[in-house]
Amino acid sequence: MFCQNCPRHCYTERKFCWAPDNIKIGLWQLFYGEEPSISGKNGSGAIFFSHCNLRCVFCQNYQISQLNQGKDITDKEFLEICYELKNQGANNINLISPTVYHRRLVKLLRKLKEEKFPLPIVWNSNAYELRENIKELRGLVDVYLPDFKYGVNELALKYSQAPNYFEIAQQAVLEMFLQKPRNKYEEGGIMKAGLIVRHLVLPSNIENSKIVLKWLRDNLGSEIQISLLSQYTPLYKASLFPEISRSLIQKEYDEVSQFALSLGFKNIYFQELSSVGREFIPEF
Ligand code: SF4
Repeated sequence: MFCQNCPRHCYTERKFCWAPDNIKIGLWQLFYGEEPSISGKNGSGAIFFSHCNLRCVFCQNYQISQLNQGKDITDKEFLEICYELKNQGANNINLISPTVYHRRLVKLLRKLKEEKFPLPIVWNSNAYELRENIKELRGLVDVYLPDFKYGVNELALKYSQAPNYFEIAQQAVLEMFLQKPRNKYEEGGIMKAGLIVRHLVLPSNIENSKIVLKWLRDNLGSEIQISLLSQYTPLYKASLFPEISRSLIQKEYDEVSQFALSLGFKNIYFQELSSVGREFIPEF
């Protein structure tokens, strides 16, 4: 038996991500560290899933993504958490790193739909996903928030053990764009539906960022909302790789920002280097 939740198609007895069959959550809370149209003033209703289909050496959530922390929960408890976050005033339900629970989440999102759950559902993923799985999310997910990490496959292999990342992420993001070609906002600027493509700028790897940005502009156009993340922090195993064992410097971030502007992108979230780092890294 093969797992169909992501492009790795593991034998179910030898899972790359070690995710259990039921859902496992590292943390759920109102969260203020996302883009302004996601967090807003009230906060995003963040559900941080345990386990991940990438093994990024610099993962800022490594305790839950790779070190097995978290709590198994039932489907009923998952639905209760969504309602609890709504009652706390969350702007949305922000499913963070949901891919390894794809099948189960499709079922649960259908249930929320049937119950006319009123908040937008945000699919906050690493883009290493099957296009046909993203197709299944049509009508269930309101906002796609993929982090398009790599345009250079050698880097994806080296830092995240992810073969063919670039081609796989392209297909996933194309499908997201097909479903959400235009962004819609509520009064107050919170996103109701749409797509924000993130990109985490890695130190010493500026060309990687440029390849991702160029592909996005050529294939999705310059009107899409992009978000250039400067928050890279050399956590977990990053110190084993000298070139990424430091934070990003302003010059690198500026070069990537200028390149995005030169490509004609009109909607860019920039991030202040001084305002990031560990501030928005949750305590697991
Ligand atoms: S979700 Fe996990 S078990 Fe399933 S294919 Fe992906 S890495 Fe393998």
